[in-house]
Amino acid sequence: MNLAGIKGKVVARGDEEYEESAYQYAFSSHEELVQPAAIIYAQDDDDVIYAIKMARENNFSLAVRTGGHQYSAASSTFGNNIQLDLSRTYTDFNWEDADHTVLTLGVSIPLGKFQSKIMKKGRFVPTGQCSYVNLGGHVQSGGYGQLIRSFGLLADHVLKVRIITADGQARWVDRSIPADKPLLYAILGGSPGNFGVLTDVTLKLLRDEDHDKSRGFRAMIPYSKDALKNLLDVMVKQDLTDDTAADYDFCVTVMGGRKAENKPAAIVVFAQALGGKSKMTPYDGVYVDDEPVKISELCSHWLFPISREFQLPYYKCTYMSNSRASELQSKDWTEWVTERMDDLESKSEEHQTFLSAQFQYAGGKHSTYRTEGAKNITSLSWRDSTFGCSLDAFYNGEGLPKARAKAWTEKNTADGVGHANAVFSAQDRRLLWGSFDTNLPDQRTKYYDQAPGKYDTLSKLKVDIDPHFVFTPNTFSVGPIPDRIRNKEPHGHIAIFDHAVKHARDVLACKKGPLCLEE
Ligand SMILES: Cc1cc2nc3c(=O)[nH]c(=O)nc-3n(C[C@H](O)[C@H](O)[C@H](O)COP(=O)(O)OP(=O)(O)OC[C@H]3O[C@@H](n4cnc5c(N)ncnc54)[C@H](O)[C@@H]3O)c2cc1C
Repeated sequence: MNLAGIKGKVVARGDEEYEESAYQYAFSSHEELVQPAAIIYAQDDDDVIYAIKMARENNFSLAVRTGGHQYSAASSTFGNNIQLDLSRTYTDFNWEDADHTVLTLGVSIPLGKFQSKIMKKGRFVPTGQCSYVNLGGHVQSGGYGQLIRSFGLLADHVLKVRIITADGQARWVDRSIPADKPLLYAILGGSPGNFGVLTDVTLKLLRDEDHDKSRGFRAMIPYSKDALKNLLDVMVKQDLTDDTAADYDFCVTVMGGRKAENKPAAIVVFAQALGGKSKMTPYDGVYVDDEPVKISELCSHWLFPISREFQLPYYKCTYMSNSRASELQSKDWTEWVTERMDDLESKSEEHQTFLSAQFQYAGGKHSTYRTEGAKNITSLSWRDSTFGCSLDAFYNGEGLPKARAKAWTEKNTADGVGHANAVFSAQDRRLLWGSFDTNLPDQRTKYYDQAPGKYDTLSKLKVDIDPHFVFTPNTFSVGPIPDRIRNKEPHGHIAIFDHAVKHARDVLACKKGPLCLEE
C-alpha cells in the first residue's frame, strides 16, 4: 500500500510545527500523554478512512481530536499512535425542516458558533458552558449545562449521528431504528472516540415560542465566603422536597482571583425559570428583572467565552452526588465546601494555587436530567444524582504549588466522596466530561453506574466493532486495553508512516493536490 493518500496536512514528531500542533487543553497537566507520533489534519472522509486503514494494517491506534478540551488528555496519544485532528473538517450546517427544529451539523463546530446560529431562529438546546468546546466530543461526553433540570443533556436531544467505524465504513446511527440503539447507547456515554469517528449529528432543537414566560439572569458579585455559603444553602434547599418543578435551574460558579492575570475573585450566579410554577422574587432589596426573556437569548449568557480558566496546569475534580438536602444539611456540607474553597482562595497569591469551582442542582423527581436518563438512550451515568460539584486547583510552579494543589484535591476527594461518612456523596460518582483519571478500566465503577453491567456491555460492543483497537489510543478507554497501549510502548519508528509524511509533503510542495500522488 502506498500511504501518500492523505490529502490534509500532516505534522510528525520532530517537525518544527509539532509542539504547536500537539498542544491541547490537557498538555500542561498530562504532557506525557500528549505526544502523538504525528497529527493528521484530516481534510475529509477519505483521509479519515485512509488513516483507519493505516492504523489497522500497521497496528497502531488513532486518537480523535476535534476541540481538544478533554481534561485527561483522552483525545491525544503517545508512542507510535497517531492523532486525527478534525478541527476544521466537518463544518456543514443544514436545517432539515421548515420549522427549524431539526438540524444536521458537522462536529467541528464550537458551541459559541452553534448557539449563535440557532439563536437567530429562536431555537435552543442544552449544552455546556465553554464557547470553544466542539460538538465532536461534547455530544458524546453529554453536554452538561445550565438547562440540566429543565431540558436534560445535549446528548438527550440527539436524533442520529454519522460515524466512520474501524471497518472504514461511514453510517448513520439513528435513535428511531431499533437495531441502531446499542451502538447509539455506546457512542453517547461510552468513552468518546472509542467507537469511531463522529462526523455529523442531527439534533432535535427546542423552540423559544413554547416557553414564552421564560426569565433568568446572570449576576457576578465579588468573592466572599459568606455570600458563597448563602448561595449554596439556597441551592441545597431546592432539594428539600423531591417535587420541585423542573422549570427552574440554578448554578453557582466561583472564579478564583489571580493578580498576574488581572483577575479579581468573583462568584457568578446563573438562574432561569420557565415561568408558571417557579417565581423569581426580589431578595433583600436586590432588583431582579422578572420580564420574560427568550431562552435562546438566555443561553447566550450561559456561555463563557474563555478557553481556559487560568494559564496554568491543574488538578481538576468533578463529582456527582445522590445525597438529599437533609443529608447535606446534617453533614454541614455547605460549610465544609466553602471552607475548603476559602482555604485555597485566601492563600492563592502566597501559595500560587488558584481556585475554580462550580455547583449545580440536578435533582427532584421531575428533573429532565433524571427522566431522560431513565429512557436509557445514552450510557451516560449517574442520572439519579441530585447535585454536581467541580473543585479545581490550578498551580504556578512544579514544587510546592503543585504539591499543595494536589494535596488540596486529594483531601476533597478523601473527605468528600466514596464512603458512608463522606460529606458530599457516599458513592464516588465521576463524569466523562470532568474526568480526572487516565485509566478508565481501573476506575470503571466511578464512571459507570450499574457496574459492572454497563461497563461490560460497552466493552463487549467495543470489541465487536473495533476488534483491532484502532480507537483505543490511551487507557481512558472501555474494553480490553492492548499491551502496546497499557505498557506505553516507547516512541519508535513507523517506517510506513514516514513514507506517508514524505509523500504528503511532496503533494503539498507540488501543489497539484491528490492527483500527483503515486500509486
Ligand atoms: C474550559 C472547559 C470548560 C468545559 N465546560 C463544560 C461544561 O460546562 N459542560 C460539559 O458538559 N463539558 C464541559 N467541558 C468538557 C467538554 O465538554 C468535553 O471535554 C468535550 O468532550 C470536549 O469536546 P472537544 O471536541 O472540544 O474535545 P476533544 O478533546 O477533541 O474531545 C473530547 C473527547 O471526545 C473524543 N472526540 C472528539 N471529537 C470526536 C469525533 N469527531 N469523533 C469521535 N470522538 C471524538 C475525543 O477522542 C475525546 O475523548 C469543558 C471543558 C473545558 C476545557
